[in-house]
Amino acid sequence: MVPKPSADRLASAPAKPLISEKAERFTESVIRDMTRQAQLYGAINLAQGFPDFPAPAEIKRAAQQAIGADINQYAITWGARSLRQAIAAKMKKCRGLEVDPEAEITVCCGSTEAMIASLLAVTNAGDEIVIFEPFYENYGPDAILSDARPRFVTLHPPADPAGEWRFDERELRAVFSPRTKAIILNTPNNPTGKVFARTELEFIRDLCLEFDALAITDEIYEHILYDGANHLSIATLDGMRERTITINGMSKTYSVTGWRVGWAVASPALTNAIRKVHDFLTVGAPAPLQEAGATALSMPDSYYEELARAYRARRERLLPALRQAGFKTFVPRGAYYIMTDISSFGFPDDVSFAQHLVKNIGVASVPGSSFYSRPELGARQVRFAFCKTDTTLDQAAQRLLKLRKA
Ligand code: GLN
Repeated sequence: MVPKPSADRLASAPAKPLISEKAERFTESVIRDMTRQAQLYGAINLAQGFPDFPAPAEIKRAAQQAIGADINQYAITWGARSLRQAIAAKMKKCRGLEVDPEAEITVCCGSTEAMIASLLAVTNAGDEIVIFEPFYENYGPDAILSDARPRFVTLHPPADPAGEWRFDERELRAVFSPRTKAIILNTPNNPTGKVFARTELEFIRDLCLEFDALAITDEIYEHILYDGANHLSIATLDGMRERTITINGMSKTYSVTGWRVGWAVASPALTNAIRKVHDFLTVGAPAPLQEAGATALSMPDSYYEELARAYRARRERLLPALRQAGFKTFVPRGAYYIMTDISSFGFPDDVSFAQHLVKNIGVASVPGSSFYSRPELGARQVRFAFCKTDTTLDQAAQRLLKLRKA
C-alpha cells in the first residue's frame, strides 16, 4: 500500500524550482504589455503593431465562405494545398523564386510560429544565432527556447535622422564563428524601418557561405516600402537558395494580425524538419483562414500599390506630429514603425518616459530598451506604430503636443 503523504508534506511548498531556467532567462513581451497598459489607462495604442482599420472585404468574405462551406476541420498539417500553391505563385511573381508547394512550404500559426519552428528545427544546444539589434522582441527568446545562444550585433542609428541605420562589417564578422548556425534577418526591419541593401545582403551572404551558416529571414513587411526602397530576399542571392529559410505571413500585408497565418519557405531537407516541429507544436494553422489566404495572395498588383501608398500617407501624418512634439525621428524606409530619440525631453530613461506617455499623455509607445540585449542602447529611444487610422493618428498627435507644454 502506498503510504499517504503526511499533512506536513501536503502543506509544504514544492522544493524543486517551479520554473525552467529557460523561462527565467527572458521577460514577458514589453510590446504586448504596453497594449494592456494602453487599455488600462485609456491611452491611444501606438505600441503594438496591429492595424485599427478594417481588413479587405474580399478576404473577410472568403473566410466567412470557407466557414460556411464547412472547412472547419484540420487542414493538412503543413498547410492547405490552395494556400501553399498561392504562396508558391506569389514567390515566383514577386521574387522570381521557383518554390515547390509540396515540399518547400510550411504554413504555421503566424510568422511567429514559423520562426520558432525553424529555429527548433535547425539548432543544437550550444549553436549560436546572430541577431541584429534593435530586434523584434521574439528573436532572443526564440533562440533561448531552442537552446541556442543569441549573439547580438548593433544596427547603429544614423547621425542624420534621414540617414540609414547601419551595421559595422567588422562587428558583424566578429560574431561569426564555426559555432554560428544561423543569422536572423528582418527586412524591412522592425523597429528601425531599415530596408537592407543588396550590398549589405551580399556581405551577409558571404559570411553565411564562409561559416556554413543559414539565413532565417523574416520578410513580413515586404510590401510596406517608402521612397522607392526595393525589397530584396536573401534567398535570391547566388548560393543562398539552399541555406535560407524565408518567413512571411498574412498579418501585415492583409491587415489580419489576429488570424495567425504565416509560413516558412525552405529547401525540402529543411522543410521536412520544420514540418515535424510545427506538427508537434500546433498541428496546424486555422483551416478556413488558410482558404481565405489563398484568395488574399491572389490579389492584383494594385492592392499592394495601394497598401504602400496608404502607409506612406500615415507615415507622413505621424512624422511631423512627432517632430512638433519634440521627438527626433528616424525616417523609416519600410515597415510601419517610427523609432524616435527622446533626448530633448530630459527623462532619465526610455521606460520612465514611456510610462509618463501612457499614463499622463494618453499615448502608448514601446520603450527602446526592449529592442536591445543591452538596455542602455535603447535608453534614449521609443518606438511608435503608425498602422492606424487618420483619426487615431490625429488624436495621438493632439495628445503628444501636451509634451511641449509640460
Ligand atoms: N510585430 C508587432 C510589433 O512589433 C506585433 C507583434 C506581436 O505582438 N505579435 O508590435
